[in-house]
Order: sequence, then structure tokens, then C-alpha cells
Amino acid sequence: MRKNIVAGNWKMNTTLPEGLKLAEEVNAAVAEAKPKCDVVICVPFTHLASIAAIIDQNNLGLGAENCADHAKGAYTGEVAADMVASTGATYVILGHSERRQYYREDSAVLREKLALALANGLTPIFCVGEVLEERENGTFNDVVKLQLEEALFDLPVADFTKIIIAYEPVWAIGTGKTATPEQAEDMHAHIRAAIAAKYGEEVADNTSILYGGSCKPSNAAELFAKPDIDGGLIGGAALKCADFMGIVNAF
Ligand code: PEP
Repeated sequence: MRKNIVAGNWKMNTTLPEGLKLAEEVNAAVAEAKPKCDVVICVPFTHLASIAAIIDQNNLGLGAENCADHAKGAYTGEVAADMVASTGATYVILGHSERRQYYREDSAVLREKLALALANGLTPIFCVGEVLEERENGTFNDVVKLQLEEALFDLPVADFTKIIIAYEPVWAIGTGKTATPEQAEDMHAHIRAAIAAKYGEEVADNTSILYGGSCKPSNAAELFAKPDIDGGLIGGAALKCADFMGIVNAF
């Protein structure tokens, strides 16, 4: 059966000492809470190796927030998937709306990143989601389906089953506006149906689909109670241990 997962996305926040302190706190809190879900923190590249050294990855998974679309070479400033894996991290967020919007990452680039992440044993947390205009003009289901088709649906089933999907309506990220549990559930069911049509019911049933977008301790339980919502990708609320654990403990 699919896993319930709460993953933090720290984005471009925390210096290394601040990040180490937060990771230490979350690691201790997770060890004590024994949550009913997997817990992951995705952190800046600069923090990965140091955090890998101080957390227990049997309790708390570690991931990067991105990786390069090339394996190695003259790409100044980029970080390759094998470099991420060599730090001890095992997850990577790909296709986050901030990468799509600010760094012009399209499906072709994301296919390269996915292939490299998978080839290096990383578990991709692959983000999809519509912008406000697409929510308002009613095209959101088609937009998200196309994002899945273009980036993921050429993968062989053995690779597809390694992927975690995160539905993140862009209008809900960092805005304080959460999708209602019904809006989120409708989209998660739509995503699961698209996976079932492509890879079959069993694969669809086993795919974890996380919700992201202003998820917080006060709304997490209601979201996670929905049948197709298997956890959350958490931005702002992942930066305070108590808030993050409030969401983890919503399961
Ligand atoms: C995110 O960026 O992945 C996210 C969900 O952010 P926030 O929780 O701050 O809306």
C-alpha cells in the first residue's frame, strides 16, 4: 500500500548553523513522536552532507530541492544528481512551481532531471499544479494532466513507481490560501485516475500523492483525512519544528 509522507521544503532559508539546529530539533522530535507517516526534510545543497551526518535517516529522510539536468561537466553553479546522492540524501524535489516559474524549467528539462535522479537512486518528489488563472478559467484538470503526461508518462512502470507526486496549486503556495480539502481531494483523485489509465489501478493505488500549499497544523488533519491525500509537501511551516511536527502528527 502507498505510504503517507510529510516532507518539508526549506527553500532558500537558513544558514548552515541554523539549518543544522533545525534538523537536529526535527530529528529528535520525530524520534520521540514515532509518527504514523514517513517524514522527510528537503534542504539547501550546502546543508546536505552536514545534516546527513547528524540525523537518523531510518526516522527522518533527507532530500535536495533540485538537481541538474546534466550528469556532469561545464555547468557552473549546478549540482548533479550523483553529487546529491553522494551526500547521503535520498530524495529530491523536482518540478517545483518556483523552479518552473523563475528558472523556466519545462517538461523537457524535468524529464532529464528525473532520469538522472532515478539513475542515481534518488526518490523524486515531483510537483505539479495550476496557476490562479487556470484555476479560475476551469482548465486546471487538463493543465495538471498535461504536466504528468509530458514529464512522467513516458517512464517505464518500474521507474514510475519510485516517484512521489506532490499536487501544489501555485495560488496556494506561500499565500496563506489553502485549497479546500474538497478541491485538493478532487485533484488528487483526478491525478490518481490519470495514473490508473496509464499504468493500471494497482500502480495508481500505490502512488503517494502529497498536497502542498499553505498546509499548517490547523488544516493538515482535514486534508490528510481525504482518501486520495497521502500527506503534504510543506514550505513555510517546515521552518519551525513545532509547526512541522504539528503537521506530521496530524496523521
Ligand atoms: C512549497 O513551496 O512546496 C509549499 C507548499 O509552500 P507553503 O507551504 O509555504 O505554501
